[in-house]
Amino acid sequence: MPKQLKILNYINGKMVPPASGRFIDNLNPATSEVYSRLPDSDASDVDLAVRSAEKAFPSWSCCGAEKRAVLLNTIAGLIEKNLEEFALAETNDSGKPISLSRILDIPRAVSNFRFFASGIRHFASESHLMEGVSLNYTLRQPVGVAGCISPWNLPLYLFTWKIAPALAAGCCVVAKPSELTPMTAFMLSKICMDAGLPDGVLNIVHGYGNKAGQAICEHPGVKAISFTGGTATGKMIAQATASQFKKLSLEMGGKNPNIIFADCDFEKMLETTVRSSFSNQGQICLCGSRILVDEKIYNRFKKAFVEQAKKLKVGDPLDESVDSGSVISRNHFHKIMSYIESAKNDGGKILLGGSRVKIKGRCKNGYFIEPTIIEGLDPGCKINQEEVFGPVVTLIPFKSEDEALQIANSTLYGLASMIWTQDITRAIRVAQRIQTGIVWVNCWLVRDLRTPFGGMKNSGVGREGGWEALRFFTEAKNVCVKIHG
Ligand code: NDP
Repeated sequence: MPKQLKILNYINGKMVPPASGRFIDNLNPATSEVYSRLPDSDASDVDLAVRSAEKAFPSWSCCGAEKRAVLLNTIAGLIEKNLEEFALAETNDSGKPISLSRILDIPRAVSNFRFFASGIRHFASESHLMEGVSLNYTLRQPVGVAGCISPWNLPLYLFTWKIAPALAAGCCVVAKPSELTPMTAFMLSKICMDAGLPDGVLNIVHGYGNKAGQAICEHPGVKAISFTGGTATGKMIAQATASQFKKLSLEMGGKNPNIIFADCDFEKMLETTVRSSFSNQGQICLCGSRILVDEKIYNRFKKAFVEQAKKLKVGDPLDESVDSGSVISRNHFHKIMSYIESAKNDGGKILLGGSRVKIKGRCKNGYFIEPTIIEGLDPGCKINQEEVFGPVVTLIPFKSEDEALQIANSTLYGLASMIWTQDITRAIRVAQRIQTGIVWVNCWLVRDLRTPFGGMKNSGVGREGGWEALRFFTEAKNVCVKIHG
C-alpha cells in the first residue's frame, strides 16, 4: 500500500475528489501514523451523488433481479479474489488483528453480496383472493435512493450488510463509511468499476458524519436511511429525518448481558465467554459486556475466566499470533480509560488489566488496552449502564433467575444477550422474558443471515437481515383487481 494514498469519492461511476478539495488524515491506530487521506465531503458532494443515483434508478430498478444478482455475485468474487489485500487494509485502518480481518470481516462481506444475490431471486410477495370479489396482489418496489451509513468496528462487513440488500432490491445507493475506516470502502468502489456496475448505482461519499453523513440524511432525494452506529447519532438521525417521513433502520449501541447459570457446560461457556468479551478488543456491538454469574459458581468462574483472559496476547495487529490489537483511536482510547476510572471510583475491583499496554517497535504509539475484568459494582452504576465498546467487562453475581432477568433488563439498551444453561425449559423461559432483539443460547455470534437482526429499546429501530432487509428497501404497494362474475 503506497504511503499517503489518496482516497477518492466514487460518484456516478468515477473516482472524484471532494468539491472543496479538502482532505482528512487517515491514521493507523496501531501506529498512530497517517497513512492515507480521505475526502472531507460536504453537502455539495452528497448532492452530486444523490443526483447520479436518481439518474441511475429507473434503469437499475427495472433491469430485473437476475441481472442484479449476477452483478452482486461478480462483486463478491472480486472481493474474495483480493481477500488478503482487503484484510490488510481493514487491519491497517482499524487496528484489529489480521487473523480476524481474514476470517471474519472480509469473508462476511463476500457472504453479504452472495446472500442477497441469492435472496432477491427468491423474494416473493403476497396475494390475497377474495373469492368472487377481487384479487389483491402486493408489489414490492424499490424505495428509490437509499442512504447507508456504517461504523468503524466492522467496516466492510457492516457497510456491505446494508449496500448488498439495497442494491439487490433495486435501490440506488449513496453510502458513507466511517471516516476512521474508509479504505476497504474505497477498494470496494474500484471493484464495482471492474465488475461493470452501471454508473451511479452505488455512490460512496467519504467524510465526517456530522457533515457528509448528515447531508445524506437531510437530502430530500434520499428516501430511506439504513444506519448502524451509536445511539446518540441514531437519535440525531431520527430527528433530522422526521419531518421528511423517511424510512429508517437504526442499529445502535448495546449493553449486552451474558447470563451464566450454574448448570451450564462450564468449559464451552468459558471458551466462548472469553471470545464474546474481548473479540475485536470488545468493539463488537454484540459483545457481552455485563457477565451475570450464578452465585453458586461465581468464584469458580471468576478464577477460570481471569486465568483464560490473562492468556490473550495483546500486540501488533499484523502479528499472526495476536488475539487483541489496538482500539480504534486516541479519543476512543481515552473514553474507554475514563470508564475504567469511573468503575474504580464507584468501588469496582480490577481483577485483570485496567491499563494501557505499551508495545515495542512500530506500534509504540498505538492505542492498546489490556483485557479488563472488574467486579464489585452495583448493576446501576455508570459502567454497568452505559456502553463502553472496549475490552472491558464487569462480573455481577445473581441469586435467582428472576434477579438475573431484573439486572439484565435494567438498562436502556436491548440489543443482544447470551444464556448459558443445560436446562432447555429455563433457556426458553428466560429467552422469552429478556428484552433483547437477539438471544444466543449456549453460543455467541452464530449468525444465520436469514434471521431478523437488530435491537429493541435504545438499541434499534427495525430489523436487518433476510427478508426484513429486502422489505426495508422496498415499498409495498397493494393492487386490488375486481373480479367480475
Ligand atoms: P457513530 O454513531 O459515531 O458513527 C456511525 C456512523 O455515523 C459513522 O459513519 C459516522 O461518521 C456517522 N455519523 C456520525 N454523526 C452523524 C450524523 N449527525 N448524521 C449522519 N451520520 C453520522 O458510531 P461509531 O462509528 O462510533 O460506532 C460505534 C457504535 O456503533 C457503538 O455504539 C456500537 O454499539 C454501534 N454498533 C451497533 C451495531 C448494531 O448492529 N446494533 C453494530 C456495530 C456497531 P464518522 O465516523 O465519519 O463521523
